[in-house]
Amino acid sequence: MNARLESNQRLSTTDYDLVVIGGGITGCGVARDASRRGLKVAVIEARDVGFGTSSRSSKLIHGGLRYLEQGEVGLVWEAVNERRILRKIAPHLVNEQGFLFPIFTTSPLKLWFLKAGLWVYEALVLFRVHKIHSSFNPKKLAALEPLLATEGLKGSPLYWDCTTDDARLTLESALDAKANGAEIATYRKVVGFVRKGGDADGAIEGVEVKDSFSGESFVVKGRCIVNATGPWSDRTRAIFGLQGKKLRPTKGIHVVVDFERFPIRYAVVLHHPDDGRILFAVPWGDRTYIGTTDTDYEGDPAVVAATGEDVDYLLRSCDRFFPDAQLVRDDIIATWAGLRPLVSTGAEKESDVSREHEIFEEHEGLLTIAGGKITTYRRMSKEVVDRCLKVLGKRGGLPTLHDANTHTSPLPGAVGWASDDDHMGMAKKAEEAAGGAIEPDTAQFLVNQYGACGVEIARRLANDPAGSERLFPDRPEVLGVVDWAVENEFAVTLSDVMIRRTQIFFKDRNQGLDAAEKMAARMAVLLGWDPQQTEKEVADYRQEVALSRAWQSDSAE
Ligand code: FAD
Repeated sequence: MNARLESNQRLSTTDYDLVVIGGGITGCGVARDASRRGLKVAVIEARDVGFGTSSRSSKLIHGGLRYLEQGEVGLVWEAVNERRILRKIAPHLVNEQGFLFPIFTTSPLKLWFLKAGLWVYEALVLFRVHKIHSSFNPKKLAALEPLLATEGLKGSPLYWDCTTDDARLTLESALDAKANGAEIATYRKVVGFVRKGGDADGAIEGVEVKDSFSGESFVVKGRCIVNATGPWSDRTRAIFGLQGKKLRPTKGIHVVVDFERFPIRYAVVLHHPDDGRILFAVPWGDRTYIGTTDTDYEGDPAVVAATGEDVDYLLRSCDRFFPDAQLVRDDIIATWAGLRPLVSTGAEKESDVSREHEIFEEHEGLLTIAGGKITTYRRMSKEVVDRCLKVLGKRGGLPTLHDANTHTSPLPGAVGWASDDDHMGMAKKAEEAAGGAIEPDTAQFLVNQYGACGVEIARRLANDPAGSERLFPDRPEVLGVVDWAVENEFAVTLSDVMIRRTQIFFKDRNQGLDAAEKMAARMAVLLGWDPQQTEKEVADYRQEVALSRAWQSDSAE
């Protein structure tokens, strides 16, 4: 029997304490916490781990300096403290990043006010930050960030937050949950629910699941069900017969350009010239990305995409603050779009809607968690599991529980990671492990992307000449990462590998299309695809790329 059939059999024959719907950062975080406490957990994910918003964020682990301005001190306190914890449990994935926040005569914020805010920002973690912020006058800024506009520039602080690979943080949380006994079921969708004794008024005792590959349907029983479906939350509530809306999803897009076209030393925070909204330009290895927008969205969360208007909005900001870069539509290599699963608060402006999370219990045994941020997912997950324990206490009692220790236990890629967080030192180890099979840039890519697991991948490549082959002449990724993704990271479609396991979709100049057939052929061997399936996988991936490029057919302003 293959692994997927075995998984379906386990799902349909086990009585779980907790069934989590949705394998985003929230669902995987809940599964990690609950499984570490000793609960029997299943995660049911309609597509891939991290398919939703959790692979489409701004990739920042940050306190959200701007929320201080909105008076959300509690949210900022929580976030900056979580940033510190994530640095500890995932140092390979959560990396320090300097941020410039230039203030111009036209800025809606005064320089003195921003500096005062930064003292508060740092005081909230008792100044346990990478570096205390510093300040630059326009002359120094011109030397530091030569592309930055000088007209009306008053100065800029430099402060420190973190960046991450959001999809991988989600994946590593799922992997840790799996290592603690959780069942992670991808491409299986919750389509209904079952009540005790089939009685219309009976308590909820499980969910009806459909396997998207085989079409097989079965029931997964759980004493507590957690709806962690992010922007799909209201759709999932509707499956349980719950009416009305709890969410106000807003769309945010990002664009990726070549670093050489937009070389910035630090990430830069900008106020958009049209509406004063905050945007980020973030250096990302050989690329730079710019985001984000914030507009109400009502459509299908699975096919959210950038429009020409969204892209032009971001380009206008670059034009105002980095005029010499002269970025134009043709510079854009890739885009991504995601939906913030914000809890509806009645705020007028999209960007004024609170980022706080909320837990709703509308049926006995069913909890919905909505809102939140990647940065605070660990703490939010703990809160959800605490609520689940109350539900379980009322519905048959609790198993023996342990401390989850999610704040001290390293995520998988951090096990064996250098205590001094030396990425270059780890790359040397990977190079040695590969015994000459890979070049230094590939070794660096492997440890930057996979943490200490990168050394293990390199070791395997020592005996795998085909796997050590570069996928693109000018990029570090090698074919062997496909094997790793399939064998160790739940990847079952070409898009899983391209978009969420490797970021080739965002970073390669042709979004990986030139290697799609080769990678699909390797997956076909590993997963037993026939030629039709292999072709379909390539076609599906092409469609993902086309969706991300659909904005190109909208005429420029
Ligand atoms: P999702 O990641 O969307 O996961 C929900 C999952 O549920 C999906 O994978 C979906 O396939 C699955 N699902 C749906 N229906 C079903 C069903 N019926 N059965 C089974 N599965 C189902 N936060 C930060 O901390 N830092 C940032 O820089 C940041 N930037 C952001 C920028 C943008 C543009 C956006 C949109 C958000 C940003 N956020 C940021 C917020 C953060 O990304 C989200 O709060 C978080 O990713 C939400 O995760 P989630 O798990 O709740 O939802």
